[in-house]
Amino acid sequence: MPFSVRKPLQSRQCRRKRLIARAENEYYDILGVPKTASKAEIKTAYRKLARQFHPDVNKEPDADKKFKEISNAYEVLSDDDKRSIYDKYGEAGLKGAGAGAGFSNPFDLFEAFFGGMGGGMGGMGGRQARNRPMQGDDERYDLQLEFKEAVFGTDKEIETVRLESCATCNGSGAKPGTTPVNCSQCGGQGQVVSTAQTPLGMFRQVSTCPSCGGTGQTSTPCSTCSGDGRVRKSKRINLKVPAGVDSGSRLRVRSEGNAGKNNGPPGDLYVFIKVRSDAELKREGNNIVISAKVSYIDAILGTTIKVPTVDGPVDLRIPPGTQPGTTLVMSKKGVPILGKPTLRGDQLVRVQVEIPKRLSSDERRLIEELAAVTKGNFAGTRV
Ligand SMILES: [Zn+2]
Ligand SMILES: [Zn+2]
Repeated sequence: MPFSVRKPLQSRQCRRKRLIARAENEYYDILGVPKTASKAEIKTAYRKLARQFHPDVNKEPDADKKFKEISNAYEVLSDDDKRSIYDKYGEAGLKGAGAGAGFSNPFDLFEAFFGGMGGGMGGMGGRQARNRPMQGDDERYDLQLEFKEAVFGTDKEIETVRLESCATCNGSGAKPGTTPVNCSQCGGQGQVVSTAQTPLGMFRQVSTCPSCGGTGQTSTPCSTCSGDGRVRKSKRINLKVPAGVDSGSRLRVRSEGNAGKNNGPPGDLYVFIKVRSDAELKREGNNIVISAKVSYIDAILGTTIKVPTVDGPVDLRIPPGTQPGTTLVMSKKGVPILGKPTLRGDQLVRVQVEIPKRLSSDERRLIEELAAVTKGNFAGTRV
């Protein structure tokens, strides 16, 4: 039937032959396929490009225009009749033949193409996108631990507040016993169309219906959760804190975060650990560092002192002749390694040798004697 106008067309064609010849492969170029491309190849090319240039995902300024071109090219090349006219006469042939003076809305075409595929475009705000179950958000809990609780681990009961699926409506958000009705604003389409006249022509803008959020349906909201499907609730959780955690450690409690919208899976609960410091024991990773004061006499002669450890006071031998600032290692007296509780760090003891500022007369006499002996020794060894 369009071929009734074929004759005048052909004569027009002759006059503009060169012009048309140049534009001939344009639709093929737009889709990046050869002129011999099969229908499947054209479909694949459109699928790839349409997703790439959809203005919802592509924020380039000319994505809109490009998306329209892709859509137009596909519309022609995917239709046997239109394609054969286009092949013979170019774009002008299509217009003249009346085989589609105007193109379809590129968004409608896109929806028709992808709509039946379970929403090929994740989160594109199309119809029903808002109905999809969504992963819930993670929740945070800050937990303060005593120094030794962090070292050896502990059991804690914590109380978190998070969103749970509403028991009244089973997470649907609709008042029980009511049935959803088609949205009056969009007539159940989930989308609203606005038209704008621009210098480039008439543009139709399709956007998610603000009234139903794209579901196409409205329902009486559940009075417990106000239609969200979730309610804020507190829950007590028994938390096993493993040995070796430290300030900045983060424990993940699976699925104890916020419930997802539309009965989506819950997020996780993250427990952020903060550890109180100890007056004597200082933690450096898995090691404990302390300093111990020793009198100069004990440093010279050697002794055994009691030092605090995470296990309680422990005897530490100070060997004779210990130099000031020496670090003594108490093996495996440190912090258990997180995840490997049988392995432990060490305790490092820095020895501070104390030299008295004042001496009793007896002490002074003895030290002077000692000095004489020492000098004598040196004299003896020298001469
Ligand atoms: Zn509810
Ligand atoms: Zn609506």
